[in-house]
Amino acid sequence: MKQKSIWLNEISNPSSDSLDKDITCNILIIGGGMAGMNVALNLTDEDDVVLIDKGEVGYGVTSHTTGKLTYLQGTIYRDIMKAYDFDVARDYLSSQKEAIDIALSNIEKYNIDCDLEKSDSFLFTTSDNGDLNKERDFLTKCNIKYEDAKLPIKIPCVDCFKVTDTYVFHPLKYIMALKSVVEDKIKIYENTRAIDLDIYEDYYLIKTEKGNIKTKKLVIATHYPFFIIPGLLPIKLGLEQSYAMAAKHINGKFNAINIDKEVYSIRFYKDNIIVGGFSHALSENIDYKGEEDKLLNFYNTYFENPIDEVWMTHDLKAHDYLPMIGRFDNHPNLFLATAFNKWGMTNGILSGKILSDLIKGKENKYESLFKINRPFSLEKAKNFTTDNFKIGKVYVESKLNKNKEFYNKVYVKDIDGISCGIYVDEEGNKHIVKNTCPHFKCSLIFNNADKTWDCPCHGSRFDIDGNLIEGPSVFSIKINDD
Ligand SMILES: Cc1cc2nc3c(=O)[nH]c(=O)nc-3n(C[C@H](O)[C@H](O)[C@H](O)COP(=O)(O)OP(=O)(O)OC[C@H]3O[C@@H](n4cnc5c(N)ncnc54)[C@H](O)[C@@H]3O)c2cc1C
Repeated sequence: MKQKSIWLNEISNPSSDSLDKDITCNILIIGGGMAGMNVALNLTDEDDVVLIDKGEVGYGVTSHTTGKLTYLQGTIYRDIMKAYDFDVARDYLSSQKEAIDIALSNIEKYNIDCDLEKSDSFLFTTSDNGDLNKERDFLTKCNIKYEDAKLPIKIPCVDCFKVTDTYVFHPLKYIMALKSVVEDKIKIYENTRAIDLDIYEDYYLIKTEKGNIKTKKLVIATHYPFFIIPGLLPIKLGLEQSYAMAAKHINGKFNAINIDKEVYSIRFYKDNIIVGGFSHALSENIDYKGEEDKLLNFYNTYFENPIDEVWMTHDLKAHDYLPMIGRFDNHPNLFLATAFNKWGMTNGILSGKILSDLIKGKENKYESLFKINRPFSLEKAKNFTTDNFKIGKVYVESKLNKNKEFYNKVYVKDIDGISCGIYVDEEGNKHIVKNTCPHFKCSLIFNNADKTWDCPCHGSRFDIDGNLIEGPSVFSIKINDD
């Protein structure tokens, strides 16, 4: 069993240049995931656009998704109705349907081979107490046709219905195709990490490791915003860790998700079944291997073929379940797309349309729905399943990791007044790193499944030698770095 995402198997990405000098541009997009690449696609008719990515485009959370293009998104409509009302939930539904249409039109227009398949979406409950009628009533009021159905796979299911106008695709093949479409018009720099942002009256200055970029308009599509935006973070956003796996299976030509506490998200890709779920909030004390095993045990209870790949990642949720896609009130040339609530295929594609419209001075009907400066509301947040408010508590408790032994041969120890994380490998070599996340100064915990040092507050991850794997931190934790 490989510890990697199935989407990485068939992909080769001819690498782009990395930035090694100061440059000036009109529009800079930071981040080449589903959001950033779709913004780029919609800006190929603009002059002087640049996109940078800290690694290779597409290799962030987008390469760890399940890749469904569906509007049947678990309990999202009841959650939005709880936070707002029916009208807001209906607008969100229409945005997701529009995103699917945009995806289909892009795939046709650019002749993209991304294994797109029509795939019925099933919504089901595993429990006698689960009530799908809220979703049935909501869809009926929105004039969406659904059919009561039996789940075509042998896992526990008490009630179920399906819609038939939904799709699945290969997310990385889609991104790589966008890359080749936009590269003629937009300069892409890979392995170019933005490390700081200075805001001036009529331009932004982005600092990278080997050159600065001066830009009039700036799009932040880095998943977790790589800098702290006053008033936005951290209380409006929460992170949820999820696990996924793939194994050989006859293609059932459908996808499914349930509405219960433990969520199973299922789809097929060629002759593979992909099962995801078992999400949890980040915390100071996670047994990653134990959490991953819950998913593997679930699969092994109902299926026979051995598991080929297993992977984990996290996605951002907003406190009121609506993504944040738009411009800042006090910075009309600063744009952001984040908090897709684990539905970033549709919402990333939609970000491309919304942000490019705003950048070009056009109206977009979803501008107010996804406004990023909407106020934080305790009332709306009270149903938020990711316990975001724990972040302060997590910070304090992570500090208690001082001189802690995580696992056999993995421990935290003060060396010369610096809190260090120490991993002893099979040959007995010690890998010593700083145990403090450069982003917010939380102490790191050891991830025993991926063998990484992970931040329990905001999700930054580092390898055992201190190299940064993913942000929001923009710095490594190598012992000799300042
Ligand atoms: C298990 C799981 C299953 C999912 N399944 C689905 C699904 O079936 N359907 C669906 O709609 N959604 C799904 N999602 C959600 C979806 O995968 C994400 O919301 C989406 O991929 C996020 O895209 P993004 O562009 O915001 O982020 P990313 O793909 O992470 O892209 C951000 C990019 O920014 C770059 N970057 C970061 N920091 C910097 C920096 N400082 N400088 C330069 N570049 C930087 C990164 O390298 C990365 O390439 C799932 C999520 C999870 C966790």
